[in-house]
Amino acid sequence: MKIVLLGAPGAGKGTQAVRLAEKYSVPHISTGDIFRSNIKGGTPIGLVAKSYIDKGQLVPDEVTVQIVKERLEQDDCKNGYLLDGFPRTVAQAKALDEFSEVEKVVNIDVPLSKLMRRITGRRVCSKCGESYHVDYLNGSLSCGKCEGELIQRADDNEETVSSRLDVYTAQTAPLVEYYGEKGVLVNVDGDGNIEDVFNSITAQLG
Ligand code: AMP
Repeated sequence: MKIVLLGAPGAGKGTQAVRLAEKYSVPHISTGDIFRSNIKGGTPIGLVAKSYIDKGQLVPDEVTVQIVKERLEQDDCKNGYLLDGFPRTVAQAKALDEFSEVEKVVNIDVPLSKLMRRITGRRVCSKCGESYHVDYLNGSLSCGKCEGELIQRADDNEETVSSRLDVYTAQTAPLVEYYGEKGVLVNVDGDGNIEDVFNSITAQLG
């Protein structure tokens, strides 16, 4: 199955993506993760990406589209994929249409008013990437899955999140209408616990 996960920053895309990719046996492709690993590795793409990510802005479409195009050409994507965080602009969605036919687009809907708290309280495992929230950690600083160190993403601070949310409203939210018109959109209420949201996504995907 060729799936796109849509949703504002903090809506739970990454959390659901890991579980959905496992259930449907497709690779989980997160453009944010690809950029972060390039930044860590000090690659030219990482250098470009960092200058945008630090400001809460989108990395230019040309760079992002090329990365995804090359990734989808790899063998493991033959039978499908789960895109997490791409497309994020109508231009990216149109570019994707040129090289792949998306079957389902899952829009995880969470009220904007709840997202700031969700993101600034987020902690991620530096080893396996699992996501947590400080409200449920009871002060623990290590991952419940692999015992890796929990860290706060550099772009999860209040100022950067504020621009990421503005960018979402202006540039990414129009994709809900774009995919709605194509008849591939599935809307899911993301304001619940991880298990409930997962179950409503899979109920609709089949
Ligand atoms: P994420 O991990 O999905 O929250 O992405 C982190 C950051 O990476 C975003 O705030 C953007 O700066 C950048 N990014 C991720 N995906 C895209 C994309 N599809 N287009 C442009 N920038 C992106």
